[in-house]
Amino acid sequence: MHNFLPFAWFEGQCIPFNDAKLSIATHALHYGTAAFGGMRAIPDPNNSKSFLLFRADKHAKRLCQSAKFLMTELDEDFVLNSLETFLVKNKPTQPVYIRPFVYTSDLGIAPRLHNIETNFFIYGIELGDYLSPDGVTCRVSSWTRQQDNSLPLRGKISGAYITSSLAKTEAVKSGFDEALLLNSQGKVSEASGMNIFIVRNGDLITPGVDQDILEGITRASVIELAKSNGINVIERPVDKTELFISDEVFLTGTAAKITPIKMIETTLMSKEMPTMNLLRDKLTKITEGLVPEYENWVKRVNID
Ligand code: PMP
Repeated sequence: MHNFLPFAWFEGQCIPFNDAKLSIATHALHYGTAAFGGMRAIPDPNNSKSFLLFRADKHAKRLCQSAKFLMTELDEDFVLNSLETFLVKNKPTQPVYIRPFVYTSDLGIAPRLHNIETNFFIYGIELGDYLSPDGVTCRVSSWTRQQDNSLPLRGKISGAYITSSLAKTEAVKSGFDEALLLNSQGKVSEASGMNIFIVRNGDLITPGVDQDILEGITRASVIELAKSNGINVIERPVDKTELFISDEVFLTGTAAKITPIKMIETTLMSKEMPTMNLLRDKLTKITEGLVPEYENWVKRVNID
């Protein structure tokens, strides 16, 4: 069961989570016409009165871009200020996953994005590890990742998650932890809610942003971090068969952080993951606000 934070940001103010309710006729519920963010915030190891939000500016920007696809305006400063108010009101003591959400809020039928009201809320849950940090098993899904010309995949659009849900459940019901989806060209795109990286001969390789992936913020951070550590990063299409012969394969995402893949289908992957370990150690320290050069990746919120 999820441990929800006691207050939600709902219709312009913080109210008790259990009072934040929507009608069953809410438009977004029927048509998937919503977009969301997913951010992590952790207690500051150096200051009990402070909470650290990882790459809050990037998350706010992506959410506002997603709102554009829903043909509504959302202001980045408004999102950041609401997040801060939300954290101060909740005063969490554990690591939390925060879900800001923009949606068509009119009641009634007819799929559309014009002549319709939108609204915004935030809620949070206490969240430790979403996937096992020791590694996950994956299957290649029978479901294909949607194409950018059928769905704006650069946004985190709620309706898109039907494919993720089908793929995840197919994977779990067939005995795996996670699903890897190919795109309509048959190339590797991403997992149900994570981007994917492989390592071959010392190069860090990941599908480019034109491969029907979500433009993951952890992905961008890992790429930047790898480059600054002298690792050669290549963004290019990845074949399914490359997965099985890679030296390392791992997933990245806000919930998943950096998660190694230990088996794909019936192929056991190497347990030695020097590149992933290096990047994971560095990223963990950055999210904890312990690396001065990366201070600007972390927003400190005083929750006193
Ligand atoms: N792909 C999908 C489909 C996702 O839902 C997520 C999680 N937001 C990611 C990738 C990873 O993105 P991020 O690193 O920004 O959390």
